[in-house]
Amino acid sequence: MLNNAGQKPRLSAGSKDSFVEIALPLPLRQTFTYRLPSGLRDDIKIGARVLVPFGNRRLTGYAVGLSDELDPALEIEQEAIKEIIELLDEEPLLTEEILQLARWTADYYLSAWGDVLKASLPAGINTGVEQIVSITDAGREELSKTTVAKTVKSRVLGFLNAEGEASLKKLSKNFGSPAAQRVVRELVKNGFADVFNRSLAVHVKPKRLKAVRFLHNVTPPSWRQSREHPARAENDNAAAGCRHDSQQDAGATFKLTEAQQRIVDVLARTNGEMLFTELLGKADVGASPINTLAKRRIVEIFVKEVKRDPLADVELPEIPELKLTEEQKTALSAIEISLKTNEYQAFLLHGITGSGKTEIYIRAMQRALKNEKASLMLVPEIALTPVFSKRLRAIFGEEVAIVHSNLSSGERFDEWRKIRKGDARIVIGTRSAVFAPLGNLGLIIVDEEHDSSYRQHESPFYNARDVAVVRANYAGAVVVLGSATPSLESFYNAKSGKYSELKLPFRIANRPLAKAEIVDMREVFKKIGKDAILSNELAEAIEETHAKGEQTIILLNRRGFSQFVLCRNCGETIHCKNCDITLTFHKRANKLICHYCNYRENVPKFCPQCESEYLYFMGEGTEQIENIFTRRFPDLEIERFDRDRISRRGEMEKILERFSAGDIDMLVGTQMLAKGHDYPNVTLVGVISVDTTLGLPDFRSAERTFQLLTQVAGRAGRGRLPGRVIIQTYYPENYAIRYANTQDYEGFYNEEIVFRKNFGFPPFIALAAILIKHTNYEYAFENAQTLKNALNKANKENMCRIFGVAPAPLSRLKGEYRLQILIKSGSRAKLRETLDFALYNAQKSVDMRIVSVEIDPVNLL
Ligand code: ADP
Ligand code: ZN
Ligand code: ZN
Repeated sequence: MLNNAGQKPRLSAGSKDSFVEIALPLPLRQTFTYRLPSGLRDDIKIGARVLVPFGNRRLTGYAVGLSDELDPALEIEQEAIKEIIELLDEEPLLTEEILQLARWTADYYLSAWGDVLKASLPAGINTGVEQIVSITDAGREELSKTTVAKTVKSRVLGFLNAEGEASLKKLSKNFGSPAAQRVVRELVKNGFADVFNRSLAVHVKPKRLKAVRFLHNVTPPSWRQSREHPARAENDNAAAGCRHDSQQDAGATFKLTEAQQRIVDVLARTNGEMLFTELLGKADVGASPINTLAKRRIVEIFVKEVKRDPLADVELPEIPELKLTEEQKTALSAIEISLKTNEYQAFLLHGITGSGKTEIYIRAMQRALKNEKASLMLVPEIALTPVFSKRLRAIFGEEVAIVHSNLSSGERFDEWRKIRKGDARIVIGTRSAVFAPLGNLGLIIVDEEHDSSYRQHESPFYNARDVAVVRANYAGAVVVLGSATPSLESFYNAKSGKYSELKLPFRIANRPLAKAEIVDMREVFKKIGKDAILSNELAEAIEETHAKGEQTIILLNRRGFSQFVLCRNCGETIHCKNCDITLTFHKRANKLICHYCNYRENVPKFCPQCESEYLYFMGEGTEQIENIFTRRFPDLEIERFDRDRISRRGEMEKILERFSAGDIDMLVGTQMLAKGHDYPNVTLVGVISVDTTLGLPDFRSAERTFQLLTQVAGRAGRGRLPGRVIIQTYYPENYAIRYANTQDYEGFYNEEIVFRKNFGFPPFIALAAILIKHTNYEYAFENAQTLKNALNKANKENMCRIFGVAPAPLSRLKGEYRLQILIKSGSRAKLRETLDFALYNAQKSVDMRIVSVEIDPVNLL
């Protein structure tokens, strides 16, 4: 590296080579060593991002270690070590704690450290690299000599000459991609142009707006007084006018115009500072009087960083003072005692639906804050956040930050920075918020801990609930996992003493759980001789509920209009061309849509197989139910609540607000309706069918069904009015349905845990699922087989059981064939050992790009 004088950097005692260990966001488990240019030695800090060369690419990596000497064990040649290109952060983005947590996550889930680190940062923050082409002096000379213009080469040169430089992307856009690339290569070869890499500016930046404030040495008397006595501000302003005799800069005293006076008054009434546009409105003036005041040096116009606040314009709810119930008190005090110790402890808060868990979360966070500790609260889905985050804002004010994927990237960036700076000590968010850079963490809450959305299904794989427990452990914090239907694993952990169980067995005010009834749809079928969607029982209940002015929730686990299209002539169903899945008819869009890859096609008139016209739409979806119910119950205001209906931001909140206000009588929707909502006027929950969930080829399908039914039933009768639940099913004797019907968690647990034990499933064994996917079936299969052999070989002591290679339950998806290998072991350590060993050995013989390994998978699709 040459320094600015073009001389070799001075050698001093401290300028010996040093090295930095970099984690890269690549599917590689190891870190990489780079040399530090001497100019950066004192500036770099662990946790900072750096730009490094990697092969012929440039990548953003994360500095995870610094050292003055190379680890001899690494056996790398000093000379082979490349230098980092650029230090991207002066202040490290990643804290020690997050580095460590990400490291654990990467190790446990066999993913890349750098991948986890990348996922822990708000998306917009990751820098890219662009190639910049600039013209050289020789190039300019060449251009001036060119007489026959208008070859691509001369046009590119002309463009570069005019602009000085341009990105390769821009050149490709202007001159066509292959042409631009070719010409640039040629120009570089002839010395007419240079190409270099530049890190792309972060595409999300702090938002800056023009603002106005009194010049720092101007303190209008009115302003000073108005701060001390806000109530008197108006009078004082009027009396004082604005004479700045005392201050030197502003020069001569002058009389303010009316408009100028209004500006000064408005500014004085705030804390002396306001956004430019806001001031225009509030003072009812144009820009020129403000500019005049600025020229007179009364005010100054400056650029202010404005935080994008997802809760900026929300109306804050009133927070009623609640007296805790005895059970709530007992649970809370156990948490509070533990908070005092500053030591790790895990609680399972097992409270039935409507038992007041949320109140405990809030009080525990308040307690943590009193102890000067930060709290992190994870929630499964956005559906829970709007209402709840408003409530948190009303209670905790500016201390709250929100992290979820529905925020704009600007908002996310700002919330993240607020947390990083320590300005928010209460964080609520979905899955990835588990990596929020909170310092001094005292409490982590995982609400609805059983929810499968805590699991990230793509690289880097992790389960935020489990990472949360580990984070609490590292931080010496208290973790509270809450649910009415805990996952089998967590309840097992409570039973075995790993977690301490806190119970809320009753609903608030001893409201009864909703009374549930099962309707056997086989009987209904016998009676009317065809598949019915709506039983008389449910239909009558809906009418009764409406007659009483109360509300209904209808659950159906299927979007769209009808489940599939069947040819009655040849029996063919219409499949997605990329997936092993039938297409769903969406009436409003008038399309057949794949729910996995979003492939769409027009509805055919004739069977693609036999060309008959006897196409039937089978199995109903939410859209069709909404349709049928609207016709059947014309007096009811019915609204759909599923992913199709609420795809746009804000739509869900609008529907829920209308529902809350009583403008909607019935919501028809998918499992999104089962989660967390608290509407006291809902007295009926109808379940059209959950038989599809039950039929999934997954060891967790009974657990899922039980959870879904119990949760949705928990939406009924939460207010003063008692509730009713009606479950329609073709499998009334199934134990998941039976226990959900009586909301008997322990009954379900006791039966399910025996099944898990007998058939060797978690929590009794450790499970890993390897998925091998490729568009070419043979290729996928060969690789899978080689990997299987490596696993067998690694499994020397036979401590693992290896299943497969077999087609995954979803055997084709998005055009790829999917093969599965399952590994079970009674010993987690042996499972890891076998996997590590096999994957290491298979590196050379297996195409690892098509392999993904999931530890503790939550479903096996
Ligand atoms: P859960 O999360 O356990 O399903 P919630 O926390 O939503 O239950 O509480 C159910 C309802 O009871 C809410 O409307 C809540 O405001 C109310 N509630 C909670 N605790 C109390 C209390 N101590 N006294 C009165 N109402 C309460
Ligand atoms: Zn046909
Ligand atoms: Zn598809």
